[in-house]
Amino acid sequence: MIQRLHRSDLGNSLRTLMENDPAFRPVAYFSMEVGLKESIPTYSGGLGVLAGDILKSAADLGVPMAGVTLLYRKGYFVQEFNNEDWQIEKPVVWDPSKELTLLPNKISVTLRGREIQVGVWVYECIGATGYPLPVYFLDTDFDGNHPDDRKLCWYLYGGDNHYRLCQEFILGVGGLRMLRALGYMNIDTFHLNEGHAGFLTLELMRELGYYDPDKIREQVVFTTHTPVPAGHDYFTFSEIDSAFPDDAKATIHKMIPDKPGVSMTDLGLRYSRYVNGVAKKHAEVSNAMFHMETVDWITNGVHPTTWVSSGMRKLYNKHIPGWELDPGRLVQALTIPKDEIWSAHQASKLRLFARIMETNGIQLDPNVLTLGFARRAATYKRADLLLTDIERLKKIVGKNKVQFIFAGKSHPKDDGGKKLLQRIRQASQTLKDSITIVFIDNYNMEIASLLTQGVDVWLNNPIRPREASGTSGMKCAMNGIMNFSVLDGWWIEGWIEDVTGWSIGPEPQEAELSTAGSQQQHYDESKDADDLYDKLERKVIPTYYNDHDKWVDMMRHTIALDASFFNTHRVVHEYASKAYSIDFRGM
Ligand SMILES: *Cc1c(COP(=O)(O)O)cnc(C)c1O
Repeated sequence: MIQRLHRSDLGNSLRTLMENDPAFRPVAYFSMEVGLKESIPTYSGGLGVLAGDILKSAADLGVPMAGVTLLYRKGYFVQEFNNEDWQIEKPVVWDPSKELTLLPNKISVTLRGREIQVGVWVYECIGATGYPLPVYFLDTDFDGNHPDDRKLCWYLYGGDNHYRLCQEFILGVGGLRMLRALGYMNIDTFHLNEGHAGFLTLELMRELGYYDPDKIREQVVFTTHTPVPAGHDYFTFSEIDSAFPDDAKATIHKMIPDKPGVSMTDLGLRYSRYVNGVAKKHAEVSNAMFHMETVDWITNGVHPTTWVSSGMRKLYNKHIPGWELDPGRLVQALTIPKDEIWSAHQASKLRLFARIMETNGIQLDPNVLTLGFARRAATYKRADLLLTDIERLKKIVGKNKVQFIFAGKSHPKDDGGKKLLQRIRQASQTLKDSITIVFIDNYNMEIASLLTQGVDVWLNNPIRPREASGTSGMKCAMNGIMNFSVLDGWWIEGWIEDVTGWSIGPEPQEAELSTAGSQQQHYDESKDADDLYDKLERKVIPTYYNDHDKWVDMMRHTIALDASFFNTHRVVHEYASKAYSIDFRGM
């Protein structure tokens, strides 16, 4: 199925069009957050990192796309902890002019009765073959704007619902206006990465000059990421009426005539020609939740060269030439000698441990099995599941047979998440004589990279079906690191027991779908901890220490079966053919 879209493979006329007119971009990709690299801190977690990875793969493959997002001058936050191990959020200090270029273009939007000048910064993503893909960051912090309006693009997930409503108006309506001001007149597909930019449909309608929903639908595709209704942004019409200008108000009332407010997901579902979830299971859950049958799936991936370690990259280059542009070739990973895999892995492990020595003052042992757990500290991700039965864990771990590394940020307003972090940090102190648990502060792309290259096993135990896809486990797979995870999201597709890793808890049941999305669970989640302990003791530890050959063979299978597929090159191919209908070869 995978066709190669190397730049050299692009059809002649398409290439000529692109070369003659840099503004020829049939696809515009809108995302509330984009994580391209650590020094551009305009992301909070998986959604943004995925957006960054997709844009990078599109650049590598020469897909004519432009990205649109907001510039958060205050970023997300820097994580610190007080003496009670309670998370404290510090502002991120960064200077956009060091990373991005401010363009002269300005457009305006009207919100709360005031006209706001919106400017734009650009980052050029240069693909592996030199193809540039622009990512536009909208900004309102300019002289002449009202002080309150200047702050509208400061905080990612800061502010209240009204602040967010204004941000989403700027992203959707302002984003499209800006693209036009930049000269993009031939966009066929507006891709909404989650519903946040859905108000761009209002601007499309305004451009059209009359009301025709079908004409809008033809131009929009929508990727949903949230498997629970509570996760979808929602604005009442009174909130909308107090912020929007009259024409936009009239249009949105017409577009959503039957509801007391606008769910951005609902907006996306109604006004898109194509909708997808981010894993097979997630599409099934979404269809059940929205009472639809048409939600397709394109399972997420990660950008190969962003997440592979330098050592593994060298190995792949040596044994699997061409894999960087065509990571499907990683199916050949079984031909890489085991000792080379192992040395490359140990080098990454040492690099991670050196960092931990620096930041935590703890010397970990590179010959000890090391489990990693790092992600947003949302309560459904159950970061503390491992600590369910501490006495049992002590017995399993014995004399330092396993060491654990944790990291993760909690949303500033999520006290439940902060309690989880507190519990883990306190346990790492109180248990330090029996179980080694390290917590690395300020989880971000750089720490994610060190961890997903340097641990031996990646642990993930969300309450299902809450994990739409998950991507950090794929970063591990890119480095030959096995997952040990609840069967949810991508892992249902990537899991082969004792071959690519291990499952935790029961296999998914059809029945779980029927009322999916409610908080109600359809399986006994209390058994997950039991299963985690059981498999850690019976399978993971014995394989690591007693069957090194099998262990490294599992690493190779993880690369061959999972890294070859769960990468954003494959994802972009799928979007191009299923969602964008771009035929690169035929043009
Ligand atoms: C990859 C990544 C995530 C997403 O991880 P999940 O497994 O999807 O939870 C979150 N935060 C950062 C910093 C990442 O790099």
